[in-house]
Amino acid sequence: MNPIRMVDLVTQYEKIKPEIDTAIAGVINSATFIKGTEIQDFERDLAAYLQVKHVIACANGTDALQIAMMALGLQPGDEVITACFTYVATAEAIALLKLKPVLVDVDPYTFNLDIEEVRKAITSKTKAIVPVHLFGQCADMESLLKLAEEHHLFVIEDCAQTLGAEYTFSDGRKAKAGAMGTIGATSFFPSKNLGCFGDGGALMTNHDLLATKIRSIANHGQSKQYVHDEVGVNSRLDTIQAAILNVKLKSLDGYGISRNRAAKYYDVAFSNHQNIRIPARSSFSTHVFHQYTIQLIDTHREELKAYLESEGIPSMIYYPIPLHQQKAYCQEGSYPVTKALCHCVLSLPMHTELEEEQLNYITNKILGFFENKINSNK
Ligand SMILES: *Cc1c(COP(=O)(O)O)cnc(C)c1O
Repeated sequence: MNPIRMVDLVTQYEKIKPEIDTAIAGVINSATFIKGTEIQDFERDLAAYLQVKHVIACANGTDALQIAMMALGLQPGDEVITACFTYVATAEAIALLKLKPVLVDVDPYTFNLDIEEVRKAITSKTKAIVPVHLFGQCADMESLLKLAEEHHLFVIEDCAQTLGAEYTFSDGRKAKAGAMGTIGATSFFPSKNLGCFGDGGALMTNHDLLATKIRSIANHGQSKQYVHDEVGVNSRLDTIQAAILNVKLKSLDGYGISRNRAAKYYDVAFSNHQNIRIPARSSFSTHVFHQYTIQLIDTHREELKAYLESEGIPSMIYYPIPLHQQKAYCQEGSYPVTKALCHCVLSLPMHTELEEEQLNYITNKILGFFENKINSNK
């Protein structure tokens, strides 16, 4: 059996090596490292895939979030509502612009924004909501978009973990993660579902004027060469990364299928287990399983984690400390669900290359751990 990794980018690369190597060599041979034609190709193809009008590539997902909020003209002191249970980048981009991150609790089953909590957090200063589609599944966008419309709020989708997931509205209309809000922001960090070989990110929007503004802000606030109408940033996707992404985009749906196959294997092994709650699937969104995250019930997580480690099975805790308890993002208020999740979640190996033999080994070791516990308590 091959060694088990949290994410296996080596095997994934080996399967598309000739195509990737040719793409990289093409950029090197033309020396168009910045602003090469591969970038436009990628923006066009990703837009077609997401069925969104504009995709603007940038340097990373955190930049994408920041540029989105700059393009919307948010001003210091404006409140932006986001999830308490997320990766720090979401709140960081808000705080960096001197906006006020207002953290709200999440749903204990899907890990995504609790819409009622969002509703309660809206004040006269609220300008935007940033739903994070966590672990590979869309937040309840229909309710969220409705709420945002009622209160005239922007919606910035953080789809860094969910590129490729599809949402179905109650009227049957379908849309991809990132294509539903005012702006979508994503990351191509190597371990994301669509990852490049370094850092990368993108924004998407259906609004022409916003797209122009985003493009300008990402390029030093430049409207024409050497004409700077506003303060921008320098946030570019390298041509080599775009060339790699052009190859990998063709596999994104296939990668989703592989991840779902692994998730299904875990689901079957762990469903109805008294100590394990498997990740819930919403009725309105497909799941692309950026992470397969279980919740442990009446279990010493550290003990299980250490045991798995000793058996050659990596696992990770996403996320161990709630954002509201981080020094930089300290907030009053109680977040019972987030707090509970931070104590009981465990993410298992999840990637596109997991083999049945590995899944069998992982699930047997986990189930065995609990059986031994029961026996030793008898
Ligand atoms: C990875 C990630 C980001 C940031 O992406 P980078 O490319 O690392 O800057 C933002 N939000 C979420 C939810 C993420 O998982």
